[in-house]
Amino acid sequence: MTPQFPFKCRYQITQTYSQNLNNYPEGHHGAIDIVPLDDNGHVFPAPIYPIFPGSEIAIQDTDVVKGKGVRERLLMDGGLYQYLKANGCIDHEEPDGQYFLDVLYWHMLDVTDKDGTLSDDTPIGHAGNTGMVYHNGIPVPDNQKGVPPYLGLHTHLETSVYLKAKNYVGYINLGKDPQGRIDPMLVLAYKGISMLVPKRVVKQDMVTYGVMIDTPNGCQIIYATGEDQWRSWNKQDSYQLPTVNAAGATVWEHDYVLPF
Ligand SMILES: [Zn+2]
Repeated sequence: MTPQFPFKCRYQITQTYSQNLNNYPEGHHGAIDIVPLDDNGHVFPAPIYPIFPGSEIAIQDTDVVKGKGVRERLLMDGGLYQYLKANGCIDHEEPDGQYFLDVLYWHMLDVTDKDGTLSDDTPIGHAGNTGMVYHNGIPVPDNQKGVPPYLGLHTHLETSVYLKAKNYVGYINLGKDPQGRIDPMLVLAYKGISMLVPKRVVKQDMVTYGVMIDTPNGCQIIYATGEDQWRSWNKQDSYQLPTVNAAGATVWEHDYVLPF
């Protein structure tokens, strides 16, 4: 799971996450504003691509401030979760928690992909100037919305982490931002899992050992059929797990106890 930039054309970032040009009540913008440009450097309603594949959980058509937009939600894989955690964006953990990334695209001209699913190679719609947008510091009047030259055209891109657990359902990171928004530039900088790090695991019986591999398609566990296989996972051409010590003895140790 690796993000892509929402535009394949030239672009300019006109407002960052921490800026407060329009005096946001939260004290900061909490998102990034991106203006797509054609080859001549002119603003145009470029196709917007989803930064990650995911589910459309809301299609906004009428909001006065946001204009037209899409909210997308995707279940994070282990790599994205660890990356955001390492960058201070997971401030609430629950043992049974499922972590989602919500991505919000605002001010769109139209929404063209309405089948409920967003995939990498299909544009969601086009960048526009619907909702509350400004041109030279002045709100763009309604009769200028959705028509050339698309005064104030930009895409407002917001990201936040949503936690679903038995004891908590909602956005986290509320200490940083009242809506729990995190910097989309941090999310876009994620490079995916460059190296899969296998872990030694054991079941609750404390007898059944295995190796757990967190892949972009989910977590896989392979249980050792016996001591020979467990030892073989020490080899260079295998998982290179410390299952054999320097003296050649089998090491029955684990990095993680499975919840079952
Ligand atoms: Zn914005």
